Amino acid sequence: MARVNENFLKLPGSYLFSTVGKKVREYQEANPDKKVIRLGIGDVTLPLPPAVISALHTATDEMAAKESFRGYAPDLGYEFLRSAIVENDFRCRGVDISIDEVFISDGAKSDSANIQEIFAENSKIAVCDPVYPVYVDSNVMAGRTGTYHAESGRWSNVIYMPCTDENDFVPGFPEQVPDIIYLCFPNNPTGAALTKDQLQKWVDYANQKNAVIIFDAAYEAYISQEDVPHSIYECDGAKTCAIELRSFSKNAGFTGTRLAYTVIPKELVLDGISLNGLWIRRHGTKFNGAPYIIQRAGEAVYSEEGKKQILEMVGYYRKNAKVIYEGLKAAGYTISGGVNSPYIWLKTPGGMGSWEFFDYLLERANVVGTPGAGFGPSGEGYFRLTAFGSYENTVEAIERIRRMGN
Ligand SMILES: *Cc1c(COP(=O)(O)O)cnc(C)c1O
Repeated sequence: MARVNENFLKLPGSYLFSTVGKKVREYQEANPDKKVIRLGIGDVTLPLPPAVISALHTATDEMAAKESFRGYAPDLGYEFLRSAIVENDFRCRGVDISIDEVFISDGAKSDSANIQEIFAENSKIAVCDPVYPVYVDSNVMAGRTGTYHAESGRWSNVIYMPCTDENDFVPGFPEQVPDIIYLCFPNNPTGAALTKDQLQKWVDYANQKNAVIIFDAAYEAYISQEDVPHSIYECDGAKTCAIELRSFSKNAGFTGTRLAYTVIPKELVLDGISLNGLWIRRHGTKFNGAPYIIQRAGEAVYSEEGKKQILEMVGYYRKNAKVIYEGLKAAGYTISGGVNSPYIWLKTPGGMGSWEFFDYLLERANVVGTPGAGFGPSGEGYFRLTAFGSYENTVEAIERIRRMGN
């Protein structure tokens, strides 16, 4: 008799974005004359840059001719893209990564969910709280997380590292020693970044404890401060303890186009076994490569024109982040993030709960954000606004919040 994987049944429902959507719809139906502005979105809104569109057209035409048609892509990705990555994302920053340490994929979400497969079933994971839910849920499906306690919102076999204003949203080393440590910096949802010294301490800790860091650098393009590293491999010793995930989604607008990559250095060895080798095996069995057309589009991101155009795009969102950050600060809110990140994290005023503030903001200012509690128990009392809206709407939303008072 066939049976289901019961680990899936342990997953609590994720009602965050559906509840947000439902509340907004109900409000809009009851108040059809009100213009609601959405600053809750975690998706980009600007179109793909011209250099990328042009590469897509060219590659599409190649697929139409017998001489230039391509079938299956190499498992690890085309060399033209992997060498552009190695040169522009690493060598330019003084980091030596070789192309056979780069694995092209269709997304950092899937990579961050899949990477746990190459670790022992009884590995203990540590995550920040609040957190991007994929890291935990993929381990739930793999049967690694123990039992869920609805009241605390926590799993019995997961190590949580609270990130609140008490530690400036920088996780401290946990009491229990983890095997796998998920770090995402600049962070979603808090917008916090780690300085090189702070990240170096985590690298030293992981090497000392024989733990592996899964470093999600999806928001690397938003870093504006000098002392914030763009890659974990800027830290000494990271190659023996860290895997890095990158994405074309937030820097180049590929959320609907799908392209990402993972770096697994050859020096990363557990019990004499190379994780790079395991991931080659896994990739070869479960993935048949990102589309040629999309990999050409990714290559165009690194062309002279492409680089200029994505800088402009990120600059547009950065300007929105600044409008939110400065506007709310002037209005007396306690805020963080926004400087190296498209996310602004604010403390709800007057000790309001995250959802209470959501309703308050929707009704009083007709502005939609995301309740911090939706990202984990330590997100309660916080609220996320994003810079991915239009400039005009962002300015208007902040003006409304300021008029509303707090
Ligand atoms: C958006 C995001 C990603 C990117 O995912 P893709 O699948 O590449 O679109 C990865 N990690 C975090 C934390 C994100 O917010």
